[in-house]
Amino acid sequence: MTLPIMKYDAVIVGGGGAGLRAALQLSEAGVKTVVLSKVFPTRSHTAAAQGGISASLGNVEEDNWHWHMYDTVKGADWLGDQDAIEFMCSKAVEAVVELEHFGMPFDRLENGKIYQRPFGGHMANFGKKPVRRACAVADRTGHAMLHALYQRNVKANTHFLVEWMALDLIRNKNGDVIGITALEMETGEVFIIHAKAVLFATGGGGRIYQSSTNAYINTGDGIGMALRAGLPVEDMEFWQFHPTGLAGSGVLITEGVRGEGGYLLNSNGERFMERYAPTAKDLASRDVVSRAMQIEINEGRGCGSNKDYVLLKLDHLGKDVIEQRLPGIREICLQFLGIDPVKEPIPIVPTCHYMMGGIPTNYHGEVIVPEGVDMEKVVKGLYAAGECACSSVHGANRLGTNSLLDLVVFGKAAGNSMVEYIKAHSEEHKDLPDDAADFTLARLAKLNDSKNGESLGELKREVQVVLQRHASVFRTQKVLEEGVQEIEALDKRAQNIFIKDKSKVFNLARVEALEFANTIEVAIATMICAEARKESRGAHAREDFPERDDDNFMKHTLYYKDGRKIVYKDVHTKPLSVDYIPPAKRVY
Ligand SMILES: Cc1cc2nc3c(=O)[nH]c(=O)nc-3n(C[C@H](O)[C@H](O)[C@H](O)COP(=O)(O)OP(=O)(O)OC[C@H]3O[C@@H](n4cnc5c(N)ncnc54)[C@H](O)[C@@H]3O)c2cc1C
Repeated sequence: MTLPIMKYDAVIVGGGGAGLRAALQLSEAGVKTVVLSKVFPTRSHTAAAQGGISASLGNVEEDNWHWHMYDTVKGADWLGDQDAIEFMCSKAVEAVVELEHFGMPFDRLENGKIYQRPFGGHMANFGKKPVRRACAVADRTGHAMLHALYQRNVKANTHFLVEWMALDLIRNKNGDVIGITALEMETGEVFIIHAKAVLFATGGGGRIYQSSTNAYINTGDGIGMALRAGLPVEDMEFWQFHPTGLAGSGVLITEGVRGEGGYLLNSNGERFMERYAPTAKDLASRDVVSRAMQIEINEGRGCGSNKDYVLLKLDHLGKDVIEQRLPGIREICLQFLGIDPVKEPIPIVPTCHYMMGGIPTNYHGEVIVPEGVDMEKVVKGLYAAGECACSSVHGANRLGTNSLLDLVVFGKAAGNSMVEYIKAHSEEHKDLPDDAADFTLARLAKLNDSKNGESLGELKREVQVVLQRHASVFRTQKVLEEGVQEIEALDKRAQNIFIKDKSKVFNLARVEALEFANTIEVAIATMICAEARKESRGAHAREDFPERDDDNFMKHTLYYKDGRKIVYKDVHTKPLSVDYIPPAKRVY
């Protein structure tokens, strides 16, 4: 069957911070660029980012990027690639100043410079004491950033396809990426978008968990598309649980609350973080705080009739600070729980927040796959940036505010790499194979032919239950093995999804089923990689292997869909210009 074909030089899948930053680089260089997004770009999850973006501006107190790099390496529990980490931290100041010049309305100090607040794991002098490094726009930093980037793209003539969903990658017989198949959600028509280069910036997949701070559109589509195209994904066992999700709904309460002076209490009214992290206390790294909270709850010091949450106290900050610096948080608490944080503490629980793993890239944003022993090969024509990518700067645990930074630094780097690649291949597009869309069409036909199969809603719910129970804050061999079996059983059932509505036009059931095909791949990868890693590192905490095992596991996991295969590859231990930061015990 022939499909309509659209032609662009560069296709960006995703209109969040990473996609828009890359698109801007391309459009400004005169490359014909399109951004596809399932939602209007400024509704991407980036808009929900609250707390800030990190850069060692040193506006409030002394700071420098070497300290930021050290904190990131330590935060990542030595699983991060130090070349990529150096690249990101050394470019942070420039990136924030650039955003300021794009019109992002940062909060200010009295002297007019950009305001900075403390955040978890941000320390001065190589881990000695907390430092103010997070630049913020109240508690709506991502919203401001995304709008600034969107407006710059409009000015640069980036083309947008809004409410379009990318379905699959198209590769030629050499394995080069030459486009995608995509669904126009309104009409239900499928198109081939033929391109010289494709960037995935599809964001995270936190919706695999029952309790999540993520938006409903965060279904891990880039991961699903990469896996179906035969590419591996990296470090999928590492999911960040944010300490302060609102009990019940999981809505995020920014770490900025603790940055502004808020702290955690158990049912005895004890400030328990002092016991777990004597120096950083409530501003220790997120995995450390989440585990401490879970231990308090497990040992019976949780609050409420079920003793299943702890409290975040901020009323002592006073109404003025809360209204000026944390207005969105007050609104969330009033709307979701009817609690006014100006007067009483907020009930909170650790909640799934961020996917540290993703599509393997180098610090240029190029997608890389292993070749031979200790070698890496670039997949021609394919790039990834943002939460769907694993560059890997966040390693086993991301520091708060390092994701917004990652989006703009690696979005820009990937954009630059694409400009270079496209200009070097300025001749015609590479030929499309005749069967370019067959795989996608077969997937759609199967959905259309489905009769009396499994209910999508039920399967989605069951996947979330499995992940929540079997790949949560604490993990053991038995719990993980059961999780692998259960998710594999769900995968078999997912081959037989039934959707009642077979119409094409704005058929959201069909869109959801296509999203679920990606979500379940994210869930399977998570379970299998987590079962295989027999150590505790960063966000992956095994009760049966409580120590970090650098001899056997200071390695990245690469997972392939085909045969559910796992291979390990070395962490990059050669920074670009500074000395390697050797592993040390991670205490805060
Ligand atoms: C509530 C919350 C608060 C946060 N606060 C902070 C913070 O203060 N500081 C910080 O550094 N980090 C924060 N984070 C993390 C950070 O916001 C995200 O990691 C980051 O915004 C992800 O950006 P992205 O560009 O990779 O993807 P997103 O912003 O998630 O955008 C993904 C885009 O891809 C599109 N897309 C997905 N699949 C498809 C498809 N198949 N076809 C077409 N389009 C597709 C979507 O429509 C969307 O446009 C927060 C995260 C959450 C959830």
